Amino acid sequence: MSKNSTLNILIQMKDQLENIIASGDGLDSDKKLLAETEKSIKWVNSCNGYSLHEKQDCYNCGKLFTPKNQHQKCCSSNCRVQFHRAKKRLSNFNNKVQEMIDETGQETNYIIEQTITESNKCPFIVYIKGSRFESESTKSLLSEIKKALWNQKK
Ligand SMILES: [Zn+2]
Repeated sequence: MSKNSTLNILIQMKDQLENIIASGDGLDSDKKLLAETEKSIKWVNSCNGYSLHEKQDCYNCGKLFTPKNQHQKCCSSNCRVQFHRAKKRLSNFNNKVQEMIDETGQETNYIIEQTITESNKCPFIVYIKGSRFESESTKSLLSEIKKALWNQKK
């Protein structure tokens, strides 16, 4: 394909997009358009050898489910919400550990494992230089790690 024909297609697409935008008269028609687009999408049966309709484990509860599209990671909307909360919690916890390491002024590699626990228990297990840290509460886990980091420095 030559540069010019690519450009022509892009211009055509731009015109089409503008038509779509111009024909929409509010939210309802946008929704209708979206619903129609979704109906017309046919998911390909495989991608790089992986079948898209193959069952996979839910990222949150571990249950097997059949994803409706290639982006679906969780079996239900409940699980999706929980999974995103857990991800956020992990990212916050990771930042706290990194901050404590930075305070020691030394570079330290660590691994954080997140487990499925009852809601009030700390779901994290941290590995630092061959030691394993685990606690009932996130607060006490962080203080254990802090102590260990400063002891190592001495
Ligand atoms: Zn699930």
